Amino acid sequence: MPQRYAKKRDILRFLYKFADLVSPSTIIPESGRPGGGSIADRMDGTGTLIIVLTETSTRMAYEKKEIYDEGVSEGIALRVREILALLGEDPDREGLLKTPMRVAKSLQFLTQGYSQDGAELIKAALFDEKYRQMVLVKDIELYSMCEHHMLPFIGKCHVAYIPDGKITGLSKIARVVETYARRLQVQERLTVQIRDCIQQALRPLGVAVVIEAMHTCMCVRGVQKSNAITTTSAFSGAFLSSARTRNEFLNLIK
Ligand SMILES: [Zn+2]
Repeated sequence: MPQRYAKKRDILRFLYKFADLVSPSTIIPESGRPGGGSIADRMDGTGTLIIVLTETSTRMAYEKKEIYDEGVSEGIALRVREILALLGEDPDREGLLKTPMRVAKSLQFLTQGYSQDGAELIKAALFDEKYRQMVLVKDIELYSMCEHHMLPFIGKCHVAYIPDGKITGLSKIARVVETYARRLQVQERLTVQIRDCIQQALRPLGVAVVIEAMHTCMCVRGVQKSNAITTTSAFSGAFLSSARTRNEFLNLIK
């Protein structure tokens, strides 16, 4: 049975962001805050802003739930504990006590794409439409993990297609990117998988995908080149056969 973790992640993330903006002595007023409920905020002695979500603020219309497989979590956590010891750390010291389980959940989050089907996402939102010009979704944030070092690579993805009678929801394009990015990847394969998924599920006149990414395995280890950006591209249909169409796309994403 997968265990459900109902964390108010989005609200908390927003609040922490907000907390960064206020001066340390500011008491955030209880009323008039997004989320509706009353929120008591105060400072503790160490200068950390403590945000207390009171009973009423936890009632919300939308709640994002994170679901982790308990067996997988425990299996990974056990091994992470061993890794910590192998690295010469004391897994029982206070700061590391919850680290194995955090790493286990984090790894499952970062690889959630294995349980998602990009083609299904598109097929669930197909609409008849006569529009036959380029549809471009630019600057899609990309977070993936290199399969050689299991370190993140981060960047932007640009996706364009030319409809042939059908369009899909714009958010579906971003979700297809997410589906393939949230796996162990190489940038080259990721680029091609996004193109092929959209080509096969939507059957457009052509698909273009460009990814620009910074690989942390190149910055923090190995050659330690922190500014290197890797660009990959994949085209199909009209983007392959027509240099004009391809150039139009490349100009638009500059
Ligand atoms: Zn790598």
